Amino acid sequence: MSLRLQQRVLVLNRAWQPVNIVGVRRAVSMLFQGIANAVFEMPGQGDSGDPSGSYAVLDIEGWFAFSKEHPDFDSSRMLRSVRLALRLPHVVLLTQFERLPRRDVRFCRRNVYLRDGFRCQYCGGVFDERELTLDHVIPRDRGGRTAWENIVTACARCNARKSDRLPAQAGMVLRQPPARPKWHAFLSVLATREEARPWLPFIGNSRSSWLNLAHLTAQP
Ligand SMILES: [Zn+2]
Repeated sequence: MSLRLQQRVLVLNRAWQPVNIVGVRRAVSMLFQGIANAVFEMPGQGDSGDPSGSYAVLDIEGWFAFSKEHPDFDSSRMLRSVRLALRLPHVVLLTQFERLPRRDVRFCRRNVYLRDGFRCQYCGGVFDERELTLDHVIPRDRGGRTAWENIVTACARCNARKSDRLPAQAGMVLRQPPARPKWHAFLSVLATREEARPWLPFIGNSRSSWLNLAHLTAQP
């Protein structure tokens, strides 16, 4: 059997708060271990205002039965082998312990791009990922750290123009000072991806973020 590894799953704690995003392989293993149950939206019962009232929560046995009766029409969201047909969940709910909502967004290239909306923080242009670089606002050789507070998204052209100078020395102005992103705000950004549409009810009122950040849906 093979899983589409790039698919991701939203993890909720027992208070139905989003606490993590994991790969689908990890999410399925959580189901098998009983650490989490699959959350499935009941058709026609949305808008009740109470997420737990509109959703079925199924343990692995229940999820197997449900998958058999209602296979996902999207075959990429089915895990199949000779004896097995399992839907891949979009959302799972932790069963065994409470975890505080995660506070930190992992610092990495792609997450900096997401924080900045794939927008060069100097010229303001929106670019494809392959046209972007990370820029140390205070250059490394002047003691600038590789951290949320000193790294911004820059297009290759602006990055070359700025070179190893401070923005002011290069006559360039940052659109906004870089900061560590807040986890919940970041979730809204991530949820603009098509695959994350089922997460929206769990991450607050994200409709406006969805529209404002619609350009992100084009990102791979
Ligand atoms: Zn630029």
